[in-house]
Amino acid sequence: MTSSDPFWWDDAGAPASPPQVPLPAEVDVLVVGAGLTGLSAARALAKGGKSVLVLDALAPGEGASSRNGGMIGGGHRLSIDAMEAQFGRDVAIGLLHEAHLESSTFVKSLMAEEGIDCDFRETGRFRGLWRAAEYETTARGLERLQKLIPLEAEMLPKARQHEEVASDLYAGGVVYPRHGGLNPAKWVAGILAAALRAGARVQGATPVTALRRDGSAHLAETPRGALRAGAVLVATNGYTPSALAAEKRRIVPIPSFIVATEPLGANRVRSLFPNGRMIVESRDRHCYYRPSPDGTRIVFGARAAMFEAPERLAQAELRGLLTQVFPDLRGVGLSHSWRGRTGFTFDSLPNVGQIDGVWHAMGYSGSGNAMAPYLGHKAALQMLGDPGGETAFSHTAFAPRWWHPGSPWFLPFADVAFRLRDVWNNTRRHL
Ligand SMILES: Cc1cc2nc3c(=O)[nH]c(=O)nc-3n(C[C@H](O)[C@H](O)[C@H](O)COP(=O)(O)OP(=O)(O)OC[C@H]3O[C@@H](n4cnc5c(N)ncnc54)[C@H](O)[C@@H]3O)c2cc1C
Repeated sequence: MTSSDPFWWDDAGAPASPPQVPLPAEVDVLVVGAGLTGLSAARALAKGGKSVLVLDALAPGEGASSRNGGMIGGGHRLSIDAMEAQFGRDVAIGLLHEAHLESSTFVKSLMAEEGIDCDFRETGRFRGLWRAAEYETTARGLERLQKLIPLEAEMLPKARQHEEVASDLYAGGVVYPRHGGLNPAKWVAGILAAALRAGARVQGATPVTALRRDGSAHLAETPRGALRAGAVLVATNGYTPSALAAEKRRIVPIPSFIVATEPLGANRVRSLFPNGRMIVESRDRHCYYRPSPDGTRIVFGARAAMFEAPERLAQAELRGLLTQVFPDLRGVGLSHSWRGRTGFTFDSLPNVGQIDGVWHAMGYSGSGNAMAPYLGHKAALQMLGDPGGETAFSHTAFAPRWWHPGSPWFLPFADVAFRLRDVWNNTRRHL
């Protein structure tokens, strides 16, 4: 029987809400969403002397934060040229520096400072290239990046690829030795505990159902009553509800699907991942996979569909992809199969800022274990008027599109377009 709960919850426990207490009538700051972003922000705001209430529609961490692949390390989907053209050189360098280096330093010190044990290991990550032609362009891009920022990374040619992954699928790739893996459910639970210790109040099962201005403050409605907040931070990423229309129009919620295999044995897993690296790939299906923290199973995720596909279809798709990478795994049992929602922006870059006086930090576009706590913290510092809150991610676009009024009606069509692009890329793989 395959469990639909995330594999991580077996060890960390399912996300649990602190005991329910009456909601305060008034707080300095209301944080909407208790994932990595909201809880990291709440910790910083409470440490900054604010009275903070974090509300989540589910249990704290039950969104993407406790369901993700547990890979941690920086990167961007946008090329350096595209970033420079859109935002100018200084902002582009800031975006690169923060995503690759500062966010990683921040999360490591957060783990150390708060004593968060989340099975974090600096395993390194291998990014496999889908098309042979990508190898040269990726090598040139990496060379350029390393002239701009001191990033540790090296190209690995196809002939040596088996040093990192026992698959012939890729045309070589890049090794990032400072990336790592963790148990995301333990990670978000650790930040929740830190926020509570700092004095923030956190309540689950309490969705914010409406938000409006009330003089210089804000009035938030919930099924448990209304409350006034001096400031509001929206931290709902891929779960942004219709009640927060301005943010919802700027975020595309794309599901990601993920499975864990039955225990395969440490030797078998080690033979597939000789250095225990996290693995991602450059194709649009974007498979990401890794050994479990105890090294006995494989956790394997992918964009199996761009919409909330039925479970049978998602599982069949993931099985197909898993055996494409590791043909020997045909027929292995899947102990867990689950999903969660990522939040993409139209330029694939997160943003911290305000819309009509309401703060937000979101849009991690599939990669938030480092960026979400980091930008949650930056948002909090900006709200506190601390110059340390300055971030290049306040200069990204976070623009809406007229054809995305809120509900992502276009995702099934995007799914077809991505499948066709996959087929096209497959035909050109060896060029
Ligand atoms: C399957 C999957 C795999 C991923 N793998 C990786 C990975 O390996 N590495 C990586 O770095 N990133 C990964 N990500 C992305 C990463 O998980 C997210 O970027 C990150 O968790 C975002 O954190 P967040 O706090 O902003 O949002 P979330 O954790 O999604 O939290 C948003 C919260 O808002 C709440 N909410 C919604 N509406 C309301 C409301 N009306 N009132 C109150 N609360 C509300 C939700 O209940 C939810 O808890 C993955 C994501 C998924 C889904």
